Amino acid sequence: MNKDDFVKYFQNLSLHKDNVISKEAIELVMQYYSDYKKEKLPVIWLETNDSGDNNISFMNTTYPYLDRVFTEMIDLLYSNTFMAAQGKDALDILNNTAKYYAGKFTLVVEGAIPIKDQGLYNVIAVTEQQPLTALKVVTWLGGLAKYVVAIGTCASFGGPSGARPNLTGSMGVKDVLKRQVVNVSGCPVNPDWFVGTLAHLILYGMPDLDELGRPKLFYGFTIHRHCQRRSYFDRNQFALKLGDIECMFSLGCMGPRTGADCPYRLWVNHVNWPVKANTPCIGCTNADFPDGSTPFFTPMPEKSPQE
Ligand code: SF4
Repeated sequence: MNKDDFVKYFQNLSLHKDNVISKEAIELVMQYYSDYKKEKLPVIWLETNDSGDNNISFMNTTYPYLDRVFTEMIDLLYSNTFMAAQGKDALDILNNTAKYYAGKFTLVVEGAIPIKDQGLYNVIAVTEQQPLTALKVVTWLGGLAKYVVAIGTCASFGGPSGARPNLTGSMGVKDVLKRQVVNVSGCPVNPDWFVGTLAHLILYGMPDLDELGRPKLFYGFTIHRHCQRRSYFDRNQFALKLGDIECMFSLGCMGPRTGADCPYRLWVNHVNWPVKANTPCIGCTNADFPDGSTPFFTPMPEKSPQE
């Protein structure tokens, strides 16, 4: 399958019965490994300022399940969350991985980077010499990585960690590194967006990105474009309260200016998504989330202006 077909394949999930697209993606990756005798994608995963929601959402991947991602797609060399090693052992692994896989590994950052007060609001490790802040470690590893992937809206744009009044000076990875970063935003990320991005990196390298650095194949269209309540919007029929069946623009829905494929990819093993569950889209993939989306249940023109 060539790259164009791959992109169409992922975008056209709604055309496929049983949502088997990710399941088929891993078969493609396996075929690629056996055809080209490549090693799995080496990954260093750092968790910084966030709530941990992205790794939990990632663990909900179903096609493929998590075990197949770890055993057949990626070689997770270091992860604050998933590894057993602690303390000096963990730091040794991080140092050795950076040394031996320089220029080859993919750096996944989950969380924003606080830069205020020399970055002391997030410390990855404490050595006898110094605290290793997220700012230092991400800057160090970001310079050695082949690809940098920001998972979640905090890592992509600052997100809730960087929301007003942002006392820690938290910002997205791209603003710290000044290099190309693949932003896989969402609060949390949909597991398909992240696993699909990894699959693209393995098979074809860098995906086509939108103006916010996000893979177009997942973020290329607005929620509003494919929303099942769109016909109500077009007829100016708006919900008066949660639970009404009409369009929820009146209840603060951010769908018209939020890029993501939630209406047809769905969540929780492709079962549901917010509008289908009677609550407005809160625009969690946006660069100005959450400040640009609040108050959540206030119509878009009346939301708080940005400072
Ligand atoms: S509910 Fe939201 S996304 Fe759906 S049609 Fe209305 S404004 Fe658009």
